[in-house]
Amino acid sequence: TIENGLARNTSPLPQPVKIPEIKHTKIFINNEWHTSIKGKKFPTINPATGVKICDVEEADKADVDEAVRAARAAGQRGSEWRQMDASSRGRLLHRLADLLERERLNHIIKTLRYYAGWTDKIHGKTMPVDENFVCFTKHEPVGVCGAIIPWNFPLLMFMWKIAPALACGNTVVIKPAEQTPLTALHTGALIKEAGFPPGVVNIVPGFGPTAGAAIGSHMNIDKVAFTGSTEVGQLIKAAAAKSNLKRVTLELGGKNPCIVFADSDLQSAVEETQKGAFFNQGQACTAASRVYVEEAVYDEFLRLSVERAKNIAIGDPLEPRTSHGPQINQHQFDKILELVASGKKEGATLECGGCAVEDRGLFIHPTIFSDVKDHMRIAKEEIFGPVQCIMKFKTQEEVIDRANGTQYGLTAAVFTRDIHRAMSVSAALEAGTVWVNCYNALHAQAPFGGYKMSGNGRELGEYALAEYTEVKAITLKLSERLTL
Ligand code: NAD
Repeated sequence: TIENGLARNTSPLPQPVKIPEIKHTKIFINNEWHTSIKGKKFPTINPATGVKICDVEEADKADVDEAVRAARAAGQRGSEWRQMDASSRGRLLHRLADLLERERLNHIIKTLRYYAGWTDKIHGKTMPVDENFVCFTKHEPVGVCGAIIPWNFPLLMFMWKIAPALACGNTVVIKPAEQTPLTALHTGALIKEAGFPPGVVNIVPGFGPTAGAAIGSHMNIDKVAFTGSTEVGQLIKAAAAKSNLKRVTLELGGKNPCIVFADSDLQSAVEETQKGAFFNQGQACTAASRVYVEEAVYDEFLRLSVERAKNIAIGDPLEPRTSHGPQINQHQFDKILELVASGKKEGATLECGGCAVEDRGLFIHPTIFSDVKDHMRIAKEEIFGPVQCIMKFKTQEEVIDRANGTQYGLTAAVFTRDIHRAMSVSAALEAGTVWVNCYNALHAQAPFGGYKMSGNGRELGEYALAEYTEVKAITLKLSERLTL
């Protein structure tokens, strides 16, 4: 898991349920389950087997409209949700966290508990204005928050969106990715069980150009938070601009550099960079796909990396001993292998992997390229697959320029034992997150988001609260100046 959640339920994890009973496949609006207005459904496929798990009701524009109506009513003046004490809102979030612990959905609980603690600590300031005025600010909810999330971390992304939104008193209409709607719908049932008023969270499973576009362009949604591809992020921002100028936060792609200096703990750097590259089969916006290694240790780093990659346990993701599963679908699988082919064609050396696992459908072997040059497509484009590009560098200044030579700026990492170098390289890297001697160390308390075309705004931490609140300045005129 990304978050190393220490849940209260510490009994040993039960054996994975390989064919779970799917209880919730409908659209969740007003704490009720609805069929699609147009009567459409779409299948959810297990990418490890290609077998259909179930059909899910497909939300379209009309269903999104219903969800927005419910969310608007739930958050209106005088509603139960708006009237609720901030501390009670926090208790509701904690109750949801308790239910997630019961269900052993551990890795998202820390985010929820973190924001549950914030509910009654979101407040304004008093300003020392001139003359006989008193001025203070209030932090109010933005209103109806739309959210559109990807398939690579379905539950984590769901929680990153709803937890800060709810902590600030907003209501939510969230669209899970069409490939992965089931965990969101399951959490919908827990939201109802926890006692959230109807309409506070609404879940609209459906496709991007229909349900997703309806959220982006909706006149009655006040903010949209999106995670996914840069191309769709641009569409969402344009739709927001053309409709009601709703606020937009975007968490988009990355082409994240790791810089390994010769003085680093090499074994640890190999492990961390490789976990970064292959975590979730490389299907992560944080994927460590560019690794720059200082000349003196390049050969050794490469040797250790290839050895490690060849020993990664590939197999059924529900088997605890495996760590490498399938890609999400044929489209992504084909895109990854096409980029691998371009790497070979452009002259990079394929050290291992680079092909599908025989007879296993959407599985791709962990892949390492060496002799990668910055101009090659594999060094420039987001691959979103298990492909690590290893490159050589000579000087610190050179590698900083090369690391920053991308349209993206999401995450980066530095491996060195020299604290001064760690600080100066961290300062020079154009990325929203820089890890030193570690990778993918994400915490609910620390902000996450991108520079450049990796996004706008920040998720997580105290910083995310600003994205989910309106600030109101209230100025009072006193009949006379206060005597101080
Ligand atoms: P995507 O951006 O198309 O999909 C992400 C979400 O946006 C999904 O919920 C989708 O339904 C929705 N969406 C798609 N088109 C939309 C539209 N026109 N209006 C509103 N919403 C829309 O991503 P994808 O097709 O699933 O993957 C394509 C590429 O995106 C990947 O190869 C990868 O490079 C990148 N990606 C990045 C992340 C990330 O975490 N940053 C996550 C997933 C995918």
